[in-house]
Amino acid sequence: MSDIRNVIIIGSGPAGLTSAIYTARANLAPLVLEGEPSSTSDQPGGQLMLTTDVENFPGFPEGIMGPDLMARFREQAVRFGAETKMEKVSRVDLSERPFKVWTGKPDADAPTYLAHSVIVSTGARSLMLELPNERELIGRGVSTCATCDGFFFRDHHIAVVGGGDSAIEEATFLTKFADKVTLIHRRDELRASKIMQERAFDNPKIEIRWNSQVVEVKGDNKLAGIVVEDTVTGERADLDVTGLFVAIGHRPNTDLFAGQLDADENGYLVTGRDGQASATNVEGVFACGDVQDHTYRQAITAAGSGCQAAIDTERWLEANHH
Ligand code: NAP
Repeated sequence: MSDIRNVIIIGSGPAGLTSAIYTARANLAPLVLEGEPSSTSDQPGGQLMLTTDVENFPGFPEGIMGPDLMARFREQAVRFGAETKMEKVSRVDLSERPFKVWTGKPDADAPTYLAHSVIVSTGARSLMLELPNERELIGRGVSTCATCDGFFFRDHHIAVVGGGDSAIEEATFLTKFADKVTLIHRRDELRASKIMQERAFDNPKIEIRWNSQVVEVKGDNKLAGIVVEDTVTGERADLDVTGLFVAIGHRPNTDLFAGQLDADENGYLVTGRDGQASATNVEGVFACGDVQDHTYRQAITAAGSGCQAAIDTERWLEANHH
């Protein structure tokens, strides 16, 4: 076990790496625990590692590939002295200071690292249908973010899966670009709020396929249609769509913090205390990015909240440790 770090950042998406840039520039020598490359749901670099073109991140008028953008974030953090390790955190103990962080075996007696402060930026993951081919085609016709990718489907026929508020929001948004949006829902009534339902019913570009499940995602390097099954009759049909938006919910990556950090009923960390946007219920522990935001979920908002967490951390350390 080494000495006590000023700050350990858990997670290396836009939120975590922005907090690394800021804390590094504040001379706090942050340690970023990035996660492990083998992981599909919480890989280093976060959800942008699963996308192709990012066209809405300011400063890149010609667009940039998601993994390239994250490589640049990382390079910038390292340039100012952030230390990064491709290690996955297996356990934390935030009950007393210094905080304890384990990577590797969670039942090891001694923690791997100790820290005066912790920034949690473990992100969230989109739930997927878990069909063969689905993940491989993310960024190649399959998407989990209409705001990010809708623009690529101008005048196309798109399918959206799900029956909650997210699915209706995505479907409605996509009608700005698409010719036709087919909403595929597994039951005969929507889970979405009444007002959202009305929005879908009133939109002439949205067609709803009730009692239907996607059973096949076709295409090699690019989505080439889907197969939909009627859950009542078992009848299957080909749907010739160029886009498949999966909107069946998200899960924040918060298992590590259960019972230690306050979360809302959907598992998102609760932040904002004493005028500090990123403060959690544990003094000295801050959270930023999608792990505490189920509303915006954008790289730019995650980066912004990473900056807030870094400034909150710096001020807290200043008041408590230096
Ligand atoms: P959600 O409410 O949990 O809805 C998920 C939907 O996906 C449900 O309709 C569910 O079907 C369906 N689903 C789940 N697993 C599936 C699978 N394997 N295959 C096919 N369909 C599947 O999630 P959400 O829509 O992301 O919303 C999450 C929370 O955020 C909600 O509280 C929502 O109100 C809120 N939200 C609000 C707004 C807004 O107000 N503007 C926008 C977005 C989200 P079943 O209905 O059959 O379970």
